[in-house]
Amino acid sequence: MRKKYIMAPGPTPIPAEVLAEAGMPIMHHRTPQFQAIFKATHEGLQMFFRTKQPVMTFASVGTGVMESAVANMTSPGEKVLVASAGHFGNRWKDICAVFGVQAELCEAEWGQAIDPEEVKKKLKASPEVKLVFTTLNETSTGVVNDIQTLTKVVHEAGALIVVDAISGLGAAPCETEAWGVDLILSGSQKGFMIPPGLAFVCAAPSAVEKTKIAKNPRYYFSYDKALKKLTEEKMPDTPFTPAISLIIQVRKALELIKEEGMENVWKRHAGLAKATRAGVEAIGLKLFAPKAPSPALTAVIAPEGIDSGLINKTFRDTYGISIAGGQAKVKGKIFRIGHLGYVDGSDIILGIATLEMVLHKLGKKVPLGVGVKAAQEILLAENL
Ligand SMILES: *Cc1c(COP(=O)(O)O)cnc(C)c1O
Repeated sequence: MRKKYIMAPGPTPIPAEVLAEAGMPIMHHRTPQFQAIFKATHEGLQMFFRTKQPVMTFASVGTGVMESAVANMTSPGEKVLVASAGHFGNRWKDICAVFGVQAELCEAEWGQAIDPEEVKKKLKASPEVKLVFTTLNETSTGVVNDIQTLTKVVHEAGALIVVDAISGLGAAPCETEAWGVDLILSGSQKGFMIPPGLAFVCAAPSAVEKTKIAKNPRYYFSYDKALKKLTEEKMPDTPFTPAISLIIQVRKALELIKEEGMENVWKRHAGLAKATRAGVEAIGLKLFAPKAPSPALTAVIAPEGIDSGLINKTFRDTYGISIAGGQAKVKGKIFRIGHLGYVDGSDIILGIATLEMVLHKLGKKVPLGVGVKAAQEILLAENL
């Protein structure tokens, strides 16, 4: 027998009490019973997004709401800036292309965070750009971007910022309202601790204004339709059938997050990430993103001569643990250990201990226990 674990930066593990909610009998959504659940969920989402603005819920994966942002915020022929630090950042450019939007790419070297000074320069050189698309946590490289500074720089240039916080929300501190982020979106199978299938968008009044002049087409993903149902009726509602069972699950997950408290959730992620990095480095491996490391996942460079896909495969096939490999141009070169959502110190010990054994299996005989010891020391110091 082999127990199965998921240590990927999405999908992430789900607490048992959240899984159990999925077994509730289906209810009709146009009932006072469901409306009360949706209202509680909406309040939980505002807590999670750190905002008092409405947070829209769509039955969708994360990429769906990325597409919704382009559809609602842009017009054909419009010039925008995409500030990217990797594979997911670059997805903004691909979506823009489909909608006839000219996206100029400001791409950081993979493994580095976006430099706000570079964004400032690009915006100065293209004053017609009124919209910048970027990423809070770049999942492909394990980098966290400085959204507070980026938002300031973008606003100083008279533009609006759109942030993909799909893997960042709940791991990296993000003060949506206090920092003035114009549009921010996320997806359910990451920090929300529920299965894939829900995605969320919070649009500040500045972004709502932009949607009114934006001419690209949208129907299901219309923010106008979603916001009307969310704010103009007695109880928050959705224009189309909501993903009822997933909403019931996310309500429960948000309750757990509220009990722990957002600051504590951020602190836990920071501590788990620090312990993971310490373990990896003590083993003698190199971090892919040492300068701006993500609190949601740790990207590690595979040792010389070992394809990172093989590390991934050995984790999964020999030890039942799903981690993540490298994507696009770092495929085969890095592997990624997720510590996002429903994760605690024991998971990190398991992950690092398994990494040592995986390396042994692949012929790299690192001294056993050195990584575990380094991780334990951090976990003790951080009370995790
Ligand atoms: C996971 C992820 C996505 C894509 O989400 P899907 O739900 O797979 O569409 C986009 N951006 C980031 C930063 C992600 O981590």
